[in-house]
Amino acid sequence: MYSVVLELRSIFITDGASQNIDLSFDFSDTEVSGYYPLSSSVKFVGGVYNRAGAVSFEGTASYDYDAPCDRCGTDCIKQNKVEMCYTLVTSMSNEERDDYIVVDNFVLDVESLVRTDVLLSLPTKHLCKPDCKGLCSNCGANLNKAQCNCSGGDDNPFAAALSKFL
Ligand SMILES: [Zn+2]
Ligand SMILES: [Zn+2]
Repeated sequence: MYSVVLELRSIFITDGASQNIDLSFDFSDTEVSGYYPLSSSVKFVGGVYNRAGAVSFEGTASYDYDAPCDRCGTDCIKQNKVEMCYTLVTSMSNEERDDYIVVDNFVLDVESLVRTDVLLSLPTKHLCKPDCKGLCSNCGANLNKAQCNCSGGDDNPFAAALSKFL
């Protein structure tokens, strides 16, 4: 599959060199537990910088994501962003570091790096609004849209039917 990569040889070999990055990615075909949250494009703005021989990749990925509300199930679109900052190295020494990325032949696969961090940053809780009332546990009505007739207690048809047998 085609992937967006950056060729960074000139950055690595030149102290003080930098390259701005302003890219959009289409991750709409990326499935996360049965749905496709990234229906609109993911934007990354940042750069690659050589500071006294240390090369870093820094920037922010911002995106909209789609997800069903945990309480009422309505699809909702939210915005999120993730800050990214990595040190790029051409080979890894013995100690493994999460914030180090090895770039073989000075080529950085920026697309898979952004995709990974965006997926890791997806919120695990989704509410369509902070005070979502959810669904009635009795009749399944969406209580954000309408008040249903089962307010519990004596009005509950199941409880009423059950009480006849008790
Ligand atoms: Zn909701
Ligand atoms: Zn109800």
